[in-house]
Amino acid sequence: MGLNSNTIYVDMDDVLCQAARHFLVVVEREFGKKINYEELTNFDVGHACGLSSAERDELYRIVHQPYELLKMAPIDGALAVLGRWQDEGFEIAIVTGRPPESYEPSLEWLAKHEISYGSFTMVDKYSRFATEKTIAINLRELAMRRFCLAVEDSLPMAEYLAGQMKVPVALIDCPWNQADAAHAEVSRYPDWSAIADAVSTLTAAAWR
Ligand SMILES: [Mg+2]
Repeated sequence: MGLNSNTIYVDMDDVLCQAARHFLVVVEREFGKKINYEELTNFDVGHACGLSSAERDELYRIVHQPYELLKMAPIDGALAVLGRWQDEGFEIAIVTGRPPESYEPSLEWLAKHEISYGSFTMVDKYSRFATEKTIAINLRELAMRRFCLAVEDSLPMAEYLAGQMKVPVALIDCPWNQADAAHAEVSRYPDWSAIADAVSTLTAAAWR
């Protein structure tokens, strides 16, 4: 772990909340296509489900509605681990690639599931929206921040964190991030309990 910060970067979609699984529920409901989670081998769910570009636009419009965002379930184990890390003195920085319009429902979701955190930042991780005159920041602005660890599900974002920002990354294993990471600083974990075990080992080693 990087020693110049006690802040842990934690992504939101598919790290804290079951975004992809909820997208699949919407795809079946709206477009009548039943796709299994394991088939989501493309980070773009619309592409992975074989939707037309008009259907993809409609899917993203629907899933960003506040009432749809609020329906997402939390990911197993995340809440307990974040609580434990904060008890141990780490600060939790939630860093999401959601667009600025999702700010209010995202905070509402975190409150609904009683997730405590130190900061919440929206970043244009994938060149999807403009950040000027919004509360969101761009990747260059993110790179000025310091983190001791990052938890992500996006392989390109994990590589940016490890490569450009020198942050060790815990990559949560998902069907869409199966390619080999280009950086040794990116480690793959099956779930939150495996990440928590790895962090306790590292924390203990740092205190020795
Ligand atoms: Mg994510």
